[in-house]
Amino acid sequence: MPWEEATVHISSVGHASVSAAFEGVHSYWSAERGVLHGFRLRDHMQRLLDSLRLSWLEPEFDADALVAATVELLASWKASGKDLYVRPWGFAAGTHKEQMVPRGTPAEIAIETWEFESKLGQGRTCTLAVSSWPRFNPGASPASMKVFSNYHNGRLGNVDARARGADWPVFLNGAGNVTESSGSCIALVKGGRIITPDLASGVLDSITRKTLFQLAEEELGLTVEARPVERTELYLADEIFLMGTAAEVLPAVEVDGFRLGDGKTAGEVTRALEACYHDTVRAVTAKHDEWLTPVPAA
Ligand code: PMP
Repeated sequence: MPWEEATVHISSVGHASVSAAFEGVHSYWSAERGVLHGFRLRDHMQRLLDSLRLSWLEPEFDADALVAATVELLASWKASGKDLYVRPWGFAAGTHKEQMVPRGTPAEIAIETWEFESKLGQGRTCTLAVSSWPRFNPGASPASMKVFSNYHNGRLGNVDARARGADWPVFLNGAGNVTESSGSCIALVKGGRIITPDLASGVLDSITRKTLFQLAEEELGLTVEARPVERTELYLADEIFLMGTAAEVLPAVEVDGFRLGDGKTAGEVTRALEACYHDTVRAVTAKHDEWLTPVPAA
């Protein structure tokens, strides 16, 4: 339906974010194949269902139905040749008068899409600052749940990093170890190895992270270590990059004033990973067609 007609009742408490989960999916245009693809669409839908289940909400659709609905939405979109962003989200159905939505409440699902061009291969870089706000305690609100309410902490760190002249925050957990950024995961490169905070550090189980580490091992023969990462390791890293559906592979050139590499351009490993990711999402290679859901033209 047209954007302006997609409305929801003002009293929907789920919509007011306490009881709502969401996903972000990148849909890439492949010039090679002349087709739009949803990238790892089913994995995103499964994570949405998992987030809703952990929120005690019950959507009436399964992952296959959500994939089919997204394909239908994308096929009707007139942005042929463009990359799109897809936001499927679920929220407690009904107009609840109080925030404590009971267990088993049905979840409504909405799927939105808009143009969102990939920035892969454009020489993009960013700067980072360790957030003065620590990361929320995953024991109190699991980082594995992609729920809107987890993002308030992310926003505080984001605004804080920008006020200090950096592009993105890096959150530390209660033990002072590195977790992730506000909308992406983080990894560093040291001595040719990729090192990343493990999930137990309090990190979203990122689909881009899984994709990149598989490509790093398969295509580049690199070793990936997931373990607690100390803040000081960031300062002494050879390279650092952020990764996520929207961030894609985003090289960092500075963290808290410590320069990474030449302080201007991405390092060698990050560049190689970015190239592999580009070829995968744009379907230049057929090695991972299982990650691509083609959208037939309407
Ligand atoms: N961490 C957070 C907090 C995020 O919001 C995101 C974006 N969804 C990520 C990591 C990266 O996850 P993914 O690769 O699945 O997009």
